[in-house]
Amino acid sequence: MPPCTICPRNCRIDRTAGQKGYCGVTGTKIKAARAALHMWEEPCISGTRGSGTVFFSGCPLRCVYCQNRDIAGAEAGKEITPERLSEIFLELQEKGAVNINLVTPTHYTPEIAWAVKQAQACGLTLPVVYNCSGYEKTETLRVLEGIVDIYLTDFKYMESETAARYSHAPDYPNAAKMALEEMVRQQPEPVFGEDGMMKKGVIVRHLLLPGHLKNAKAVVQYVYETYGDRVYLSLMNQYTPLPGMEKWPELNRRVTKREYERLVAFAVELGVEKGFIQEGETAEESFIPAFDNEGI
Ligand code: SF4
Repeated sequence: MPPCTICPRNCRIDRTAGQKGYCGVTGTKIKAARAALHMWEEPCISGTRGSGTVFFSGCPLRCVYCQNRDIAGAEAGKEITPERLSEIFLELQEKGAVNINLVTPTHYTPEIAWAVKQAQACGLTLPVVYNCSGYEKTETLRVLEGIVDIYLTDFKYMESETAARYSHAPDYPNAAKMALEEMVRQQPEPVFGEDGMMKKGVIVRHLLLPGHLKNAKAVVQYVYETYGDRVYLSLMNQYTPLPGMEKWPELNRRVTKREYERLVAFAVELGVEKGFIQEGETAEESFIPAFDNEGI
């Protein structure tokens, strides 16, 4: 296998020779920690039956406040072959999933692309959702053209210094802009079925961080002014401080109601109409599923 340059980290290590990249992944297999119906996505992704979610272990971004930290370091999870992954997709379809939702898939993109094609050859008909951090490379996303139907991507930072402080990725804003351009090139218009479920399109998520309203507004403004109604915006207030945040005390609280309301008001004033907001008390740890290898 050539030196790994799948994501913007460009580690240039040989994972198949046992070397470990920034994403924490090594070896030739895929590692995943849960495959189950999941209700906690946007309504047009979860529906009433649930999204067929596969949570992959490891992550190229590794944010200090990661809400899925049990799997982000790639310690948790079970190793599987691409053949088994294609079976899992079919099992999720059998269970009634409305789509196949690949969570943090970036570092396994070549294997996932193969597994989706294999599953489709065996009867998979569901839309495929690529649920990623936004820290992607255009070349890698091109592999997914014709395979991924919906890009459900984070856009975390417009501020390079904030990206450096929380994700050790000062190049995040630039990488995320280029990645989003490629995603919209592949899926230029949102398409919904009669059941209200999204079949094709791009949804950009922004998780509001405490004290970072300015960064959040800059993200909303960039996405809306660049893509208008072609991209749905999902503004999230569910940030949950987890233990071990001593070096980042400013993140050791939840987002206030006032902070979130100001972000939503900003989006509305800007003219955003296609999007999702969260209502009520959503910052509960129950939103973080158990990574117990269910369905793997
Ligand atoms: S996918 Fe992992 S090993 Fe490859 S460049 Fe990204 S972080 Fe490094």
